[in-house]
Amino acid sequence: MAAVTTNLVAEAARRHDLWPTVAAALGRTLTGTLLLASSLKELDRLTVQIISDGQIGGITTEANAQGQVRGYVRNPEANAPYNEKGKFDVGAVVGKGMFYVTHESGYDVGLYRDPYRGSVPLVSGEIAEDFAFYLLKSEQIPSAVMLGVHLLPDVPYVSASGGLMIQMMPGADERTISTVETSLNRMRQATMMIRDGARPADLLRAALGDLEFEQLDEKPVSFNCPCSYERVCSMISSIDRAELESMLKVDKGAVMTCHFCNETYRLDEAALENIMSGCHK
Ligand code: ZN
Repeated sequence: MAAVTTNLVAEAARRHDLWPTVAAALGRTLTGTLLLASSLKELDRLTVQIISDGQIGGITTEANAQGQVRGYVRNPEANAPYNEKGKFDVGAVVGKGMFYVTHESGYDVGLYRDPYRGSVPLVSGEIAEDFAFYLLKSEQIPSAVMLGVHLLPDVPYVSASGGLMIQMMPGADERTISTVETSLNRMRQATMMIRDGARPADLLRAALGDLEFEQLDEKPVSFNCPCSYERVCSMISSIDRAELESMLKVDKGAVMTCHFCNETYRLDEAALENIMSGCHK
């Protein structure tokens, strides 16, 4: 699987006012989540959660089978000097912690089944390695994962983002594995290729070297959050009545911000009165 995610990572960075190292961290996680979600069925949803002791505090991303993804970090202003390779030190802002993956199905249509959850400790906090380690340990799939975000100092500063995930099928022979390893090592950086206009299939061609492959599917990807004013109203209508009255009398309204997309919803006094009288629909 391969993905070019420049626009959606730029949107995430803009929505959350991310500092550069955090933009790299969240961008890599959004891309990895989409790649992992590419095999989902129509009503499935996949959540990746990193809980760690670094400045960033944690990363949460969620993707569905339609190529839609959303996500946020605890601390958008985490920062670290460049690492010894002259790159954003994502591992330093992430720190040590755990990597969780949750598969859910049917949630949005009320056909809720028990979620499946897997977890592994973080390997390096560099994200791609952490996805690969999760796949190996929790799903027993040896994989190569590359995730990259390239930033420019000016706005819009996400100039390229994308990645790829190669999973070994059971019974893949040694020669195939070493061919892929060789071509992956020789491959130009994915973000450089994306800046030159590469599409996902071009990334796969470079990664797979001499191996022939067939493209099974292609779909658009986007940053998408299903939150809305109506959902906020219905959430507030379930709050305890005394608290609603205090919102109305003391705060003269309510303000709610969605973690996932940082959209702020303001409900004025009239809207709150409407909700309390039970006729907000
Ligand atoms: Zn939202």
